[in-house]
Amino acid sequence: RLEVRDLVRRFGGREVVGGVSLSVEAGQVTCLLGPSGCGKSTTLRMIAGVDTPDAGTIRADGAPVFDETVQVPPESRGIGLMFQDFALFPHLDVAGNVAFGLKGPRADRDRIVEAQLAKVGMSRFARKYPHELSGGEQQRVALARALAPRPRIMLMDEPFSGLDERLRDDIRDETLAVLQAEGTAVVLVTHEPAEAMRMADEIALMRGGRIVQQGAPYNIYNAPVDREAAAFFSDVN
Ligand code: ATP
Ligand code: MG
Repeated sequence: RLEVRDLVRRFGGREVVGGVSLSVEAGQVTCLLGPSGCGKSTTLRMIAGVDTPDAGTIRADGAPVFDETVQVPPESRGIGLMFQDFALFPHLDVAGNVAFGLKGPRADRDRIVEAQLAKVGMSRFARKYPHELSGGEQQRVALARALAPRPRIMLMDEPFSGLDERLRDDIRDETLAVLQAEGTAVVLVTHEPAEAMRMADEIALMRGGRIVQQGAPYNIYNAPVDREAAAFFSDVN
């Protein structure tokens, strides 16, 4: 479970994130939707711990990972990240990429890598290098890598863009199934209303650094807060 309260971020005096609050339960997906520049990626980066908020609190499974006195480093937050430029390490093979960042005895790490590759249907590719894979295959490996440390919380920033439509649908559905099976709390940034309607348990509409409406997709679709929100859903059917 992820709980974010009143998160604020300023760049050069400009408030880019102006008090964002979110909570996501285990096994649930919240989609963060909003126009370019509204602060979606900045919000995710702060939750992940790769950027530092100017104010606010973040709790992961009940434990504070950021507040006035606590700042847990990204690798210790139990929070996984999958961004659009999921860049695999070119000098590591598929298994090496998935193993990267795993701790513990070698045999345990090997077992985790095998299990994660099996989950995304990439077992046969364990000894291949990224340049030998298609874009979709690379994306599956990136997913396996993100899931390998078994994060309780997963943040995804447009992770399916740049794929052709059919592949995107497949990978999206597979990803969701894997995350739900693990009971992971997910925050997914997307600019596609149809993707949000399909994947989200809850949608948070963001604009100018703030969340302007939050609720079940069906409710937002049926009762958008204003014309701009309505326009966003107008091409979903
Ligand atoms: P997009 O949909 O285009 O990815 P976004 O909602 O993810 O947009 P952010 O990347 O969070 O938007 O950026 C929000 C605003 O903050 C933008 O105006 C951006 O220029 C600004 N910004 C982001 N990072 C920095 C930074 N490190 N320094 C200064 N300004 C920044
Ligand atoms: Mg962004």
